[in-house]
Amino acid sequence: MRVAVISDVHGNLEALTAALGAIDGCGIDAMWCLGDLVGYGPRPNECCALVAARAAVCLVGNHDLGVLGEIDLDVFSHEAAESARWTRAVLSEEATSFLAGLSPLHETDEALLVHGSPRDPVWEYVLSFGQAVAALAAATRPLVLVGHSHAALHFEDSDGSAGGLAPGGTTLPLKPERRRLLNPGSVGQPRDGDPRAAWLLLDFEEHRAVFERVAYDVAATQAQIRAARLPEELADRLTEGF
Ligand code: ZN
Repeated sequence: MRVAVISDVHGNLEALTAALGAIDGCGIDAMWCLGDLVGYGPRPNECCALVAARAAVCLVGNHDLGVLGEIDLDVFSHEAAESARWTRAVLSEEATSFLAGLSPLHETDEALLVHGSPRDPVWEYVLSFGQAVAALAAATRPLVLVGHSHAALHFEDSDGSAGGLAPGGTTLPLKPERRRLLNPGSVGQPRDGDPRAAWLLLDFEEHRAVFERVAYDVAATQAQIRAARLPEELADRLTEGF
């Protein structure tokens, strides 16, 4: 089975469309989404509809829950709270009911999927080797897939050393005896210094994971953000991917 893993789309339709185009060209069997479909970005309804139609599994993220009113927006940054209020005002009934039916954690035969971490599926960021070891210890599967940090990352706990950023093109072996935690990076708001949309290809037949990046029309999304009068910083940060 070949699976495409996406995360943190954040209402960026240009980035999602580019990622889905690349994914369609790879002949996958399933797509999994690790949450945060909305918040920050200007096209939440279209992104929800596209992912709802294609994803075999979709998680809910902290921004989705903020928009749904299940997390108090006081705990969000100013831009996150402002964009969550904007998203709430424009979100369609279909998108609202789709997001409301999702969980932040899901197990498949192959992997544990969480938005944040196995210890805290909504909020914990797994960014360090120590956090990854704790996350893997708390996991019910040897392969753990997380989103939330918007950085493409890989950690492995078998030799005590491996882990860190996974630039586009990084290819890793996937073996059941090795415990691994992978973050595909963000489709719609990358924060790892590469502004291209990120996704992850898992090939369970050839036992490998490939971190993929695809360029998209950043200027088009920035124009949509400005037209929606969302905070300017949300447009600016897409240029550099931070
Ligand atoms: Zn996010």
